[in-house]
Amino acid sequence: IFAAVEMAPRDPILGLNEAFAADTRAEKVNLGVGVYYDDNGKIPLLAAVRAAEKARLEAMPARGYQPIEGAVAYNTGVQNLLFGKDSALLANGQVVTIEALGGTGALKVGADYLKRLLPGSTVYISDPSWENHRALFESAGFPVETYPYYEASTRGVDFAAMKAKLESLPAGAIVVLHACCHNPTGADLSDTQWDDVVAACRSRGLIPFLDMAYQGFADGIEADAVAVRAFSASGLQFFISSSFSKSFSLYGERVGALSVVTSSKEESGRVLSQIKRVIRTNYSNPPTHGGAVVAAVLNSPELRQQWEDELAGMRDRIRAMRTGLVEALKAEGVAQDFSFVIKQRGMFSYTGLSAAQVERLKNEFGIYAVSTGRICLAALNNKNLGYVAKAIAAVVKG
Ligand code: PMP
Repeated sequence: IFAAVEMAPRDPILGLNEAFAADTRAEKVNLGVGVYYDDNGKIPLLAAVRAAEKARLEAMPARGYQPIEGAVAYNTGVQNLLFGKDSALLANGQVVTIEALGGTGALKVGADYLKRLLPGSTVYISDPSWENHRALFESAGFPVETYPYYEASTRGVDFAAMKAKLESLPAGAIVVLHACCHNPTGADLSDTQWDDVVAACRSRGLIPFLDMAYQGFADGIEADAVAVRAFSASGLQFFISSSFSKSFSLYGERVGALSVVTSSKEESGRVLSQIKRVIRTNYSNPPTHGGAVVAAVLNSPELRQQWEDELAGMRDRIRAMRTGLVEALKAEGVAQDFSFVIKQRGMFSYTGLSAAQVERLKNEFGIYAVSTGRICLAALNNKNLGYVAKAIAAVVKG
């Protein structure tokens, strides 16, 4: 039965990691990843997470099945972060939240549910977008198209083109929007642009699907929820996938959530019942550990404060690396203006480096980046920053 099976193409970013691992140069740097590293180049184990895990280990809880939708304490914690604890939507019972296997799992459950709800719809993702968006929605059975987003000449968003495209879409089209810290470009919408996106979704009858994988990595937990708050105030129904992979540094525990805003508590009950069917036939119910740890942190005032401080520390370190890189490139005599790197938000930057320049970084310096020129600022640290700046300077100067 496997004789005619073809080799599937390699995941471009995971392929990069394999090549990096095989590189024997001591000075090598992997800027291709989508992971936050601390200044020692390590994935942090947050102190708040460590404390919650210690308490959980000491309590030795039995490992029964979770409810299909996950634990109430977890789902409520997610809702408060996304919508704010005084949200009218939450008070009215208009939000359905289920614990999902990371942000990816949330997108997949949402996509599968949408396919049942709107089988003839088309999904629109930003150009460019996180590379898994297209594959995820295609695997749920949707045609996937793009809307204009990044404008290379300004290193920002071509908002006029994005808005014009949204305003031309047919009713019922699903629009995937990066709520903050756009991956891969680092270019986000302004508050007023979000208002315009909400207006376009309303006037055209579009289905917004916000992907929130980096809450807290741009300006802060509340500030980064601006898109969610704009949609919440609009009276529209919409979807949100969210993830704690980055904000809790819990990548491998697979902790995320899908939230759906409905028009009433009664509708929420029916929607939840259908989403539970999607989950039941897929993985039945979520694992216990990661969600329990996140819930314990969010529901303890002390641990929550500690987590917020640690998240602020990650955010500030990335910002310092952005400024540091721009200054170091200047000091290396690079004439080109790289100050856009400071304006971009979240973990990533579209540097404008060409595929050929990225290739030179790898061959000559052992520095790995995505061929599109995307680098992860969170992989820079005080030890490798100077080396990376020298290498980039060498390839941009010719
Ligand atoms: N959406 C975006 C935009 C992402 O960048 C990522 C992670 N790289 C995800 C979703 C998925 O997150 P998770 O790792 O929690 O599945």
